[in-house]
Amino acid sequence: QSAANTVPTAGPASQAAFHRARQLMPGGVNSPARAFGAVGGTPLFIKHASGAWLEDIDGRRFLDYIGSWGPMILGHAHPEVIAAVTAAAQRGTSYGAPTEAESELAEQIIDAVPSIERVRLVNSGTEATMSAIRVARGATGRDKVIKFSGNYHGHVDSLLVAAGSAAATLGVPDSPGITAGASSDTIVLPYNDSAAVDAALQQYKGQVAAVILEPVVGNMGLVPPTESYLQDLRKLTAREGTVLIFDEVMTGFRLALGGAQEYFGVTPDMTTLGKVVGGGMPLGAYGGREDLMSQVLPAGPVFQAGTLSGNPVAVAAGSATLKILKQDPPYELLERHGEMLASGLAAAAAKAGLPHQMQRVGSMLTLFFNDAPVHNWDDADRSNRERFAAYFWGMMHQGIYLPCSQFEAMFFSRTHTEAEIEQTIAAAETVCAALA
Ligand code: PLP
Repeated sequence: QSAANTVPTAGPASQAAFHRARQLMPGGVNSPARAFGAVGGTPLFIKHASGAWLEDIDGRRFLDYIGSWGPMILGHAHPEVIAAVTAAAQRGTSYGAPTEAESELAEQIIDAVPSIERVRLVNSGTEATMSAIRVARGATGRDKVIKFSGNYHGHVDSLLVAAGSAAATLGVPDSPGITAGASSDTIVLPYNDSAAVDAALQQYKGQVAAVILEPVVGNMGLVPPTESYLQDLRKLTAREGTVLIFDEVMTGFRLALGGAQEYFGVTPDMTTLGKVVGGGMPLGAYGGREDLMSQVLPAGPVFQAGTLSGNPVAVAAGSATLKILKQDPPYELLERHGEMLASGLAAAAAKAGLPHQMQRVGSMLTLFFNDAPVHNWDDADRSNRERFAAYFWGMMHQGIYLPCSQFEAMFFSRTHTEAEIEQTIAAAETVCAALA
């Protein structure tokens, strides 16, 4: 198998490339999780990706379980997506003027996502959550926002408080450079505890503009909502006139065409999107009820803009991706493969006697090295990070590219075959046996 690699770290070309990059960019990267800080060692520098596979600049191939941290649900370099991007680029890369393709993508989003009646395209998930919070505050005339520890909504100042993902991994839930004022209206509560939300809404009656959450958390490792949690939040926010925002940057178009809100049958007031919606190009979106979205300039007074928003190349990638997902929905296949992968990885850990929890929804999953189920950040924080790092490098050694933190979900695509999943499980058996 071409994936049989022998070096338990990055190869010489990646090491040289990282050395160079570190002289040029902070930490050698343009986004912190990529630097492998949580597992140590040198990140792989990628040359090429196709389907379920990545190839690094040392010429080694890896089965990819990051998928660009979520977007690549169709696999890398899907021919129809690449054709759409190429054709769009040949017509010019940006106009700063409206195009019909933007309406096409908006229509696809509105058709798919239950809560979205009007949508605005932006350039990232961060822009989407930042803008949704602004609309919620503008529409309600209230200042406070409730978020949950271990939920990550991008690097928005007011939301980078007890955030998961790279923030959790690197131990900087509150970043220097964020003023006390910027986060003083943010109320942080534990996830999966609707009584805490009820209490906060009572305590700050009439002051809470929005509750924002990941309806399935990917940013403290995969943590599903407990029974009735989403329904409870729906009732509580409706009671208080608070805007319920589902951050579906990870879950949108991944758990179902209509995201977690379709999957769980709970409709928020607003939704933020990123990752899959851009088909691997920089594109995000936020949307919701017509009365809320009509607050946005120029329909209403809430300012939000972007030179490259609705960029024709990004829109082409997103539109092609959503078209394929609608015409040929992969969700049953992903569920079947997800079950196979999750049970195989869990069995490998069990066979080796390693305490673990496998948590999965659809094509998002995490093997926690933890002896109790993970419902919130405090639970996740009790996981064995050292064991995860050893598992990560062991799997890398076997040609399996996992997210480089215990607190990041694995993603797979519809191009991952049963044979590749079996190969992954076999690798895990070898690695877990060595760790026992
Ligand atoms: N919201 C969630 C749930 C995310 O997972 C992320 C990124 O991982 C973001 C928002 C921020 O998106 P972006 O990195 O595109 O700014």
